[in-house]
Amino acid sequence: MMQKLIEVLGKHWGYHDFLPLQKEAMGSLRTGRDCLVVLPTGGGKSLCYQAPALTMPGMAVVVCPLISLMKDQVDTLTESGIPAARLDSSLPADEQGEVFKKIQKQALKLLYLSPERLLFEGVIRKLQNAKVSYIAVDEAHCVSMWGHDFRPEYRQLGRLKEVFPNIPVGAYTATATEPVRRDIAEQLRLKNPSVLVGSFDRPNLIYKVFPRQNLVRQIRAVLDRQKGNSGIVYCIRRKDVDSVCGQLIDLGYRVAPYHAGMTDSDRKKNQDLFMREKIDTIVATIAFGMGIDKSNVRYVLHAGMPKSLEHYQQESGRAGRDGLEAECCLYYSAADYGVWKFLMREMPKEAYEHALVKLDHMAAFCSGTVCRHQALLSYFGQPSGRSHCAACDVCLGELDYVEEALVTAQKILSCILRLGQNFGGAYTAAVLVGSTEKRIRDNTHDRLSTYGLLDSFPGSVVQGWIGQLVGQGYIERTGQYHVLSVTEKGRRVLKGLETPRLLKPAQKPSRRSSAAVDSWHGVDRELFETLRKVRSQIAGERGLPAYVILGDVSLRDIARRRPSTPERFLEVKGVGERKCRQYGRLFLDIIREYCHSHSLKMDVESTPALERRSKGRFCRSHGGN
Ligand code: ADP
Repeated sequence: MMQKLIEVLGKHWGYHDFLPLQKEAMGSLRTGRDCLVVLPTGGGKSLCYQAPALTMPGMAVVVCPLISLMKDQVDTLTESGIPAARLDSSLPADEQGEVFKKIQKQALKLLYLSPERLLFEGVIRKLQNAKVSYIAVDEAHCVSMWGHDFRPEYRQLGRLKEVFPNIPVGAYTATATEPVRRDIAEQLRLKNPSVLVGSFDRPNLIYKVFPRQNLVRQIRAVLDRQKGNSGIVYCIRRKDVDSVCGQLIDLGYRVAPYHAGMTDSDRKKNQDLFMREKIDTIVATIAFGMGIDKSNVRYVLHAGMPKSLEHYQQESGRAGRDGLEAECCLYYSAADYGVWKFLMREMPKEAYEHALVKLDHMAAFCSGTVCRHQALLSYFGQPSGRSHCAACDVCLGELDYVEEALVTAQKILSCILRLGQNFGGAYTAAVLVGSTEKRIRDNTHDRLSTYGLLDSFPGSVVQGWIGQLVGQGYIERTGQYHVLSVTEKGRRVLKGLETPRLLKPAQKPSRRSSAAVDSWHGVDRELFETLRKVRSQIAGERGLPAYVILGDVSLRDIARRRPSTPERFLEVKGVGERKCRQYGRLFLDIIREYCHSHSLKMDVESTPALERRSKGRFCRSHGGN
């Protein structure tokens, strides 16, 4: 059974191995067992439900929430020589008729549908007469009210098991939380499903967090170093999108905005420009996201603090789906906390309190000084097993620590105690920097011995330190007003038994992560750029996104191996038989000419060390059942 799967993986996708849990997920469908597959973005979920279809009789049905996602996947499958089609409301009647004919003739291996359409009586009847091998529910968290993307139309999918009682159902999601997973299995009435949960670590993402200083300058630094690459800049509000985007356009960057205040057609236009690489960067609110499975997003920047780590993980996770290194930079300011509180002010009380807890976790992450990968994993309840990731500002040693951290922390903690543990972060910081605000004088807190103890620093820096002490468990924020109190751990600091880590306001310059260095190992950059231009030209002619033609992983592998024959071209990662037939000759000519004019060796073997390293991202998963 596995042999057959490996064969189709190589033939159509040009991959010769499974990513973690892919084998188990595919095996489950093949043996007729329901499954719930939880893998992070870029974990290879699509292949889990696409590849088995080619090894089984009949046609697999994929339920997908968005037309753009369906279109992208069907285009990609068709490009790889797989008979696939979609049925959605945007297709003209005659094209829909064609699809129904193909279903009847059993000419399709994969059919994509929206949940509403799948449950139309007419469609159900047609599918009951066709041979359906299994049903895959993509973005399955949409079925759960506990998820962040609940879609009422997904709820109807509970009927699937009634209508198609003997057909295995697979549910796929990147949502990590346990209640959502349980809810998905219940709502879809999965029968004894195999539950496969992968590691949420994304070692190819390089996380960096910076205090926001001169935002546009900070963004430009990334855009300049990522010139020509695709990326997303997330802003909290529409007006921030318009302002940042406008400034970048004025400076000559190839960017476009995206937010819910724009018309549907403007949004669609800008999304297309981004997908087709006519612009490099999209500046957006979180309205931009689901359905974007562009594999070669090389950077995701946050111009403000997101409202939860779930959002942060999801938004930053749109970078580097292809497994190549990508950078995720977050620029935050203490003021973002207040902005979110303001935006959330009309939420019902319970939901508001829930949201505030999430906001606190997010703020603690920003001011935290533990490995960012570890911090994210532990938030999602997964141990990381690594002590040093080499892919975040903390582990790359880019953070500058305060030398006299013990004394500074003691000043802060004793000020909290002297304030009777009755005040929040902003007020405590104001007392410590010796603010002359009226409320401080009215409370006679200007007479405290800790008043003005940190008067050589701005309030925002002291507030940042308070956040860092919260993040490290020395201070707790409690109650509706986030009053600060000193924990048991904090009391050890006061006794000088433990020393916290506090960051200096100034940041050291960035270092390159080893992930970035490795994935370019042996790649001829100029050849890569030449191939990229050719790819872009083909994509333009064919009206397809560039990464559907060939992914960045493949282009880098070509520019590394520099194949001279179609057989060698087939060895390139992500090149299957169809792509080799379609583009092989064109690329081989270009490579030959380039190598000749640059006196470069062709047919370079990929070194075992490099293979091991490039597989590294796939080795850190753990399954569950
Ligand atoms: P997800 O849907 O989980 O976000 P995708 O299905 O989009 O992930 O896959 C992410 C990337 O990994 C894609 O570029 C895909 O082609 C690639 N990929 C999937 N399976 C494999 C594999 N077995 N070997 C190598 N790359 C793979």
